[in-house]
Amino acid sequence: MTGARVDIDLGRVASNAAALVELLGRSGVSVTGVTKAVLGLPAYADTIVDAGVVRLGDSRVENIERMRCAGVDATTVLLRSPMVSQVDRVVRCADISMNTEPTVLRALSHAAGAASKTHRVILMVELGDLREGIARADLGAVVEELLTLPRLVLAGIGTNLACRSGTVPDDGNMAELSTIAGDIEAEFGITLDIVSGGNSANLDWLAATSDTGRVNDLRLGEAILLGCEPLHRRPLPGLHLDAFTVVGEVVESKRKPTAPWGATAQTAFGPATPSTDRGAIWQTIVALGRQDLDPDGLTPPRGTTVLAASSDHLVLETPRRVSPGETIAFRPDYAALLGAMTSPFVTTRVNPRRAA
Ligand SMILES: *Cc1c(COP(=O)(O)O)cnc(C)c1O
Repeated sequence: MTGARVDIDLGRVASNAAALVELLGRSGVSVTGVTKAVLGLPAYADTIVDAGVVRLGDSRVENIERMRCAGVDATTVLLRSPMVSQVDRVVRCADISMNTEPTVLRALSHAAGAASKTHRVILMVELGDLREGIARADLGAVVEELLTLPRLVLAGIGTNLACRSGTVPDDGNMAELSTIAGDIEAEFGITLDIVSGGNSANLDWLAATSDTGRVNDLRLGEAILLGCEPLHRRPLPGLHLDAFTVVGEVVESKRKPTAPWGATAQTAFGPATPSTDRGAIWQTIVALGRQDLDPDGLTPPRGTTVLAASSDHLVLETPRRVSPGETIAFRPDYAALLGAMTSPFVTTRVNPRRAA
């Protein structure tokens, strides 16, 4: 191996995606598979498309271009409002984009005209989480203008909850989204193909509700990647929690006291965590740090504890000496996975052979 890496088990990814496609399908809800945490990795995209996701969603145009260049064949959705400076790229690589700003819609229509394309739009509605979204009272005017723009088609509406303020998707806000869809259709005499109810945080609501209303799509990233829902980070039944593993290499392992000596002040990253004197332990250093990922999001193997992390050193307590050159595997949470996939120091290995 060369340095730190993320191991991706595509068999487990396929199994997670297929289970969620089946589960949501029972309620008439399709899955848009979200690829941003793996930067649009083409092998990941192909795997979830084969497992039945109907669209691929990503918040970054660079990732969608990467999938397109690799020949990934699926409908693509840009999940974040397009930057005005990127509209030309957006209409070329994305079939659909999620929008909230008339200024952006006008720029998109113009760019689509220049590229001789028609671009589909999902308008995002604000339902309380206070991230992106048009207020319900303003939606009619935006729809009215959109329908006059020659190169744009209104494909549907959507909302995003939980990500910024932790607002929980429930029967109240989901019913409101359904009502809004019906109102828009009645007012403008159109049909909305897509009513996208939210992200992995909607899975609790979906499991509990007796009426999904008009919601016919969810955009799932974390649930497919890590097999859990993001509101309480509970495992989802039947899904693999270990499709992704972060592997780091040991660079030092020594018997050391638990208590530092000398006068202590702040560490490289703020106040030191106080340590109680527990005598000597096996202290093992893995070459992973904050420049690679968010170390707080790593779950070490049983019997091993994370004691501290700086830019490049992950300090562990291990049950024994671990020789330099040996590796230790961790389970990443969403933040740690995002960091590791984005760090130039961490490589990616697809379908590693696993020890039995
Ligand atoms: C990232 C993102 C998602 C996916 O969220 P998960 O919690 O990973 O399922 C869905 N919708 C939008 C708008 C996003 O930005």
